[in-house]
Amino acid sequence: MMRIVVHNTGVTVETAVVPTAVGAEVLVETLVVGVCGSDIHAAAGQHPFLQPPCLPRHEVVGIVRELGSDADGVLVGDRVTVEPTLPCGVCKMCVTDRSNLCESMRFFGCGYEQGVMADFFTSRPVASMSYPKG
Ligand SMILES: [Zn+2]
Ligand SMILES: [Zn+2]
Repeated sequence: MMRIVVHNTGVTVETAVVPTAVGAEVLVETLVVGVCGSDIHAAAGQHPFLQPPCLPRHEVVGIVRELGSDADGVLVGDRVTVEPTLPCGVCKMCVTDRSNLCESMRFFGCGYEQGVMADFFTSRPVASMSYPKG
């Protein structure tokens, strides 16, 4: 597959291996992406905690192509977007249903090993990420 990589010297299109959906993840084929304001700051070297090289990012609509062995809540063929926050699931805030305040929060496409400006990416689905077909 192809993916976009932001370097200090500019943006390149590079080849990469299609990721594998593991556990609760699903494999998504990218349909359309948007450019987040934070992507522009990162490419300009002006983002406070996202420095090139990086894999942009999280504004996306795609189609679920494969389900991990424990995936739940979406089906192959569903149109989806992503919940870009990646709470740890084990800290005090996460286990008390306040994962938006996770003490170890990560963000998709921000220091994370994947971004959505690629032919495919994997993500853990959430119920609110599925949109009606048609
Ligand atoms: Zn954004
Ligand atoms: Zn947490």
